[in-house]
Amino acid sequence: MLYIIDTSAILSGKINITSDNYIFPDSVISEIRKGNLKTIIDSVDSIRIEMPENEYIEKVVTFAKKTGDYYVLSRTDIDVIALALQLNATIITDDYAIQNVAKLMGLEYSGAGIDAIKKEIKWKYRCTGCHKIYRDYIEICPICGHKTKRYIKK
Ligand SMILES: [Zn+2]
Repeated sequence: MLYIIDTSAILSGKINITSDNYIFPDSVISEIRKGNLKTIIDSVDSIRIEMPENEYIEKVVTFAKKTGDYYVLSRTDIDVIALALQLNATIITDDYAIQNVAKLMGLEYSGAGIDAIKKEIKWKYRCTGCHKIYRDYIEICPICGHKTKRYIKK
């Protein structure tokens, strides 16, 4: 699985930019180099940077003009979507405009919290007697005296 990383995803600080299956559009890296995170990018020499081909940029532009999203997308946003289309990759972005166009084009996308969501499982505890729910682990329900069972909070 390949992922295209946009500027908002890098700025979120939630992704590990050295991950092997992450690809960075050339224009995203240019944006980052202008900002405060310049040193983070410069300290890493193994990230994969690519430019989308014109053919795919034109496909995205044509599509976004039809849906009306073209006017809210930056040139960098278009590169992100075009590269995802070209490489059949999943976009990692917190940018709503990119997510919207990706959805309409049938592309996979995810918020930058993807890594955090995978790792963090939140358990809750439900009483088997009165069904009261406890956020923290408790073996015996103090209300009715039955045991609790844990389940994953959705
Ligand atoms: Zn109970």
